[in-house]
Parts: sequence; structure tokens; C-alpha cells
Amino acid sequence: MYSDMIHKIEKAKRYAQEPDRVTIEQLQVRFRGGNEHVVVIKNDHWSCDCHFFHDWQTCSHVMALQRLLAPMLSHTSETSSHVEVAEESVLLTLT
Ligand SMILES: [Zn+2]
Repeated sequence: MYSDMIHKIEKAKRYAQEPDRVTIEQLQVRFRGGNEHVVVIKNDHWSCDCHFFHDWQTCSHVMALQRLLAPMLSHTSETSSHVEVAEESVLLTLT
């Protein structure tokens, strides 16, 4: 009995070291920044209830989560082309 549980715990520790085993298909996150925002990923589509996302279809909350969760996101949801374009535009603006 206990050896079964010990085996499962050891397996869980190994799995936790290998985030690429997991693909997030659906997730809702409460993001605490200056204000609280709810970020959702569903079927590779991101959404956030902040005003910036409404205008740009991406925001700092989504981009932060894309970085945090990158090993566990499908390639499509990892970074949409729109996000890459938005980041390039920002970098060009800053340089
Ligand atoms: Zn946002």
C-alpha cells in the first residue's frame, strides 16, 4: 500500500521536472497586476478582460503567461503571429 503511494509520488516528482509532457488545452487564470484580470486560454485562443487586450488582442498578462507556460502550450497558442508582430513593433519603437 505505502510502497504504491511512494512510487506514485516519485513518478509525480519526475513528471514535474518534464513540463513538455503536459499540454494546456483550457485554463483560466486570475492575474494580479496593478488591477486583477482574468486570462483564459481555450482551444489555442487567448483572452483577457483588460482594455489593452480589447484593442490589441494581446496584453502584458497574456504575454507573461505565454512565457511562463511556454513548455506546456501547443505551438499554436505559445505565441500567435499577432503577438510576435506586436512584440517586434514594440521593440522597434523602443530602439
Ligand atoms: Zn490583459
